[in-house]
Amino acid sequence: MNEVLQYLQSKQEEMLAVLKRFVELESPSREKALTDRLGVEIAKRFTELTGGSTTVIKNDLYGNHIRGEWGSGEEQILLLAHFDTVWQHGDLEKMPFRITEGKAYGPGIFDMKGGLVQGLYALHALHMLRKQLCCKVVYLFTSDEEIGSPTSRPLIEEEAKKSKYVLVLEPSMSPNGALKTSRKGVGMFHLKVKGQPAHSGIDHDKGRSAIEELARQISYLHSLTDYSTGTTVNVGVIRGGTTSNVVAAEAEAEIDLRITTQAEAERLMPVILGLQPQTEGTGLTVTGELNRPPLERTEQVAAMYQLAKKLAKEELNFDLPEAATGGASDGNFTAPLAPTIDGLGAVGDGAHAVHEHLVVSEMPVRSALVALLLASLGGQCEV
Ligand SMILES: [Zn+2]
Repeated sequence: MNEVLQYLQSKQEEMLAVLKRFVELESPSREKALTDRLGVEIAKRFTELTGGSTTVIKNDLYGNHIRGEWGSGEEQILLLAHFDTVWQHGDLEKMPFRITEGKAYGPGIFDMKGGLVQGLYALHALHMLRKQLCCKVVYLFTSDEEIGSPTSRPLIEEEAKKSKYVLVLEPSMSPNGALKTSRKGVGMFHLKVKGQPAHSGIDHDKGRSAIEELARQISYLHSLTDYSTGTTVNVGVIRGGTTSNVVAAEAEAEIDLRITTQAEAERLMPVILGLQPQTEGTGLTVTGELNRPPLERTEQVAAMYQLAKKLAKEELNFDLPEAATGGASDGNFTAPLAPTIDGLGAVGDGAHAVHEHLVVSEMPVRSALVALLLASLGGQCEV
């Protein structure tokens, strides 16, 4: 058996104990005191397990981010994990950490405290087995991914720019454990329609309904969806009007755009931002932007996947599939800056859902995969 896997399998109980501790330190994105408490714990474990150093990146709004550094060299590989969760303080009581039939349950366990722990132990194994890489590994632990990474984005991009590769420890695809080699980009827009109000009984003909205009715009926007290219446009929220006997003066909508390529983003952004009224006497205002660029399956991404697949097969004896997803992660931010592969974290199911869980026996296996990938991508130097 591969020595890294063998070592990590001997550490399975220890990994689970660390995971339990991390899950029980609840960390909702918007609760700074709680996320900070977990951040301190993560930094401590990083130092203990890897012998590396950590820096706390202060954050006034949300939890402090933690930057771990291990090894040395001119070049770096970036490991990426977030430690905030979508769960609220107290949810742990309803869904406590527990293990049933080989699956571990708890808030944030699959997305993504499991992957975070697996990443820590990947470095721990390399450290203990004295496998020194020719480059350093920067492990970034961020605190606000679940709310769109408002404060961590610049930090993530800055580190990605300095990295030759980025490995994202978000959960693997459910339920088959595939790596994520393509993620859609996301655009978020707000459409405001102004009409002309009128009494619906007395002056109906003088009114210009903002709601009717919005309805036309929604039909048009939804017609932009094209499953063959993976482009979708979804008007997910609408508001408008005041009462039934007034021709509506105002209406608005929130629009979600998903695209698989930057070219498609560049084609559609002006279309949405440049929407024109279809009813005379109404006016439109559109605001918004591309929130996350797509993670495209470039040749370099495909090559990283092929390497992971080969290592999985030859060293760890399992078949590693790949998959595309419409969901976004911090990997979307790093993808335009350095070759990025995502979904290297936990195997399980139920992200953001009450049945959220990971498969315990996969923890050492996926952790070993990360270690072998780091060793392979980083090159091994003599100690
Ligand atoms: Zn996540």
